[in-house]
Amino acid sequence: MPELPDLEVIREYLAPRLVGKPVVSARVQRPLVVRNLLGGDLAGHLEGHHFVDVQRRGKFLLLPLEQGAHLVVNPMLAGRIRYGEPLGRDRVRDAIVLRFADGQELRYHDAKDMGKVYLAADLSQVPTMADLGPEATDPGLSLDAFRLRLRRHPGEIKGILTNQSFVAGIGNAYADEICWQAEIYPFRRRPSLDQEEVAGLYHAMREVLANAIDTLRSRVGDAIDVEIRDFLAVHGKTGEACPRCGTTISKVTRARRTTNFCRQCQPGLMVSRRPSSSQG
Ligand SMILES: [Zn+2]
Repeated sequence: MPELPDLEVIREYLAPRLVGKPVVSARVQRPLVVRNLLGGDLAGHLEGHHFVDVQRRGKFLLLPLEQGAHLVVNPMLAGRIRYGEPLGRDRVRDAIVLRFADGQELRYHDAKDMGKVYLAADLSQVPTMADLGPEATDPGLSLDAFRLRLRRHPGEIKGILTNQSFVAGIGNAYADEICWQAEIYPFRRRPSLDQEEVAGLYHAMREVLANAIDTLRSRVGDAIDVEIRDFLAVHGKTGEACPRCGTTISKVTRARRTTNFCRQCQPGLMVSRRPSSSQG
């Protein structure tokens, strides 16, 4: 799932390539994935127009058009954005293909059809966007502000970090990395954290995301449709050695979500083994 660092690097890559380039054709292949909230013909709203910027908000990529509307991509679990020379033929799960005046194309591909591409007059029309909290990397989100926001959330730390209305941009993978960096058991409940641990969590969030952006910036290159996760410390590393202490990395799967952590560095006990009885 593309998260804040992935999408930030995609945004940086696309901005100089897309801005100001007229769209010469827009083809929708999977109407289920592409939601035209403007009404009328989607191609008509895009063809002959250009994007004025490439922005990111949480796990959404935003492409504002010069006439004021936005194309918004929310890749969810499996969405991939590809940019470059035109492909010889369409792939089955290519949802939308934009061709630009310079001959390059942008494709949104979604193996699970779970993500969405919206064409909207304004961002408040895009489902869940209005509920987003501050960016996890927002310089304005101070430790004090983080503390205050955290008080409203009594649940488990990992669940809070991935709650987009708490802070925007963190998903399953980076939540595991942040908990590991902070040496906090992901299923600990927030009220059990002391002041120092909250500060540690905040600094871990900033550090993990900033470092991931740096790493991805140097490694992604033109292949923005390939997700790079091999550099992570614990997420996706079940059975490997913890980079800090060497203990074998544990895995817990609940509600189809896999959590990786180190039992040595992040001690804790799950309150309940049955996900249905856990309180949010
Ligand atoms: Zn460890």
